[in-house]
Parts: sequence; structure tokens; C-alpha cells
Amino acid sequence: MGWKDKTAGVCGFLFNVLAPKTCLYCKKDQKYDYLPPLCGECLKNLEVIRFPYCSSCGTVLDSGGSLCYSCRHEKRKKSFAFSRSAVMFEPRIRAVIHACKYNGYKKLSRWLGEFMAERIGKYPELGGYGLVVPVPVSVKKAAERGFNQSELIAEALAAGTGKKFCRDGLLKSRETRSQAGLNREEREKNLADSFSCPEPSKIKGEKIILVDDVATTLSTLNEAAGVLTKAGALEVACYTLARE
Ligand SMILES: [Zn+2]
Ligand SMILES: [Zn+2]
Repeated sequence: MGWKDKTAGVCGFLFNVLAPKTCLYCKKDQKYDYLPPLCGECLKNLEVIRFPYCSSCGTVLDSGGSLCYSCRHEKRKKSFAFSRSAVMFEPRIRAVIHACKYNGYKKLSRWLGEFMAERIGKYPELGGYGLVVPVPVSVKKAAERGFNQSELIAEALAAGTGKKFCRDGLLKSRETRSQAGLNREEREKNLADSFSCPEPSKIKGEKIILVDDVATTLSTLNEAAGVLTKAGALEVACYTLARE
């Protein structure tokens, strides 16, 4: 072993001791130069979405068909063409989203966006959409947290796919209360007129990928997509990191 290898070995050892890296989910120690926030095992266990999935909302389908139960019984027309997600929302991805959003590990959002960029190839239907627009949060929320996670994820996704990025395609023009615990009608009421498109010329005629971290009931995506369409977007499809 040459002195260079020895030095690298000693440095690696010191890094491991001084700056231990652990998997965000299972807390197992990782090598100091291992970059992903989850260990190899946890990455393997992520529930990535594969065919068959609902052609409308993108959720995993247990048994074939093209629409999930709730989309089959949906009476109202959605404002977006379809929605897709990289993974199902489960504890491993939740740990990463949580660390990024609430513990301020802002850098993780780049990893999340790159992860979405890697998975987007599974969805050729998103291929024709060229402009990435994030779902915004209110000015107050962005100030509290210091950043908008969806915006950072969307930016990394655009960079990783070579698509155009439009940071301010949408604006959250008023504060809304948390959607948790609200039924659908209440959610829609809560969100009504909460988004606006500040500069329609930026999105006019574009096929847009609307990006958010987690898709739950799709009410938020639906409201935001409706605003983009009214402002002149040619078509809107959604792509989120996780599907709840
Ligand atoms: Zn792990
Ligand atoms: Zn569905």
C-alpha cells in the first residue's frame, strides 16, 4: 500500500469518526463518501411505481385495468391531463422529505429532484411536456422555512432532464389552512382562488409539468393546473415525487 492509499485510508477513517453518516430511515452507518440519504437496502425497498398504474392519477393498481376505483367514479373533469409520481409515499421517502422540509436539510431536495429525473423515463407520456413549474407555497410559509421544497425539487428535475424551468409560473396569492382533515368539498373551498399566474406570457402555449413533493387528494394540483390552463397553458400534466 502506497502512502497515498494510506493517507486516504486514514482520512476516510477520520471522516467516518468525525462526521458519521447514517441512513435517514434505518439509521445504519454509511461510508463517509456515500452520498444518497438512504442506504442501499432502503433505496432498494422504495416502492417505485411501475406498470400497472392508474392512467389518470398515477397510483399503483393492484389488478390491471386503466383507472383506479376513485378515478372510475370521478364525475368532475380534472384540470390536468394526468398525474404521475416516482414512488408511493411510504416511510423511507417520508423520512427524506421530512428531513428536507422540517429539519432544513435543503440540499436533499436536489437529490429528490434527481431521483425524479431518473424515474421520469418510465413515463414516456411526459416526454412532450417541456416546461417545469413548481406548486408554490405562500410568501409567509417560504419565509418561515427559508425555501419552497417543491421549487427546489422542480429545479433539480428540470436540470436533470434538460427541460425549461419556470420558477414563478404560479404564485400562492393567499394563505390557506392545512388540508389535513378536510373533506373534498372543504379542500376545494379552502384552495379556491389561492393561486394566480403572475406573468401569463411565460407559460402561454406551453405543455407544462406541474411539480409537487407529495400528491394526496390531487385537489392542490387540480386547482393549480386550472389556473395555468386559464392563463393560457396548452396542457398541464403533473409529476410528483410521491403518491399518497
Ligand atoms: Zn437504510
Ligand atoms: Zn386514479
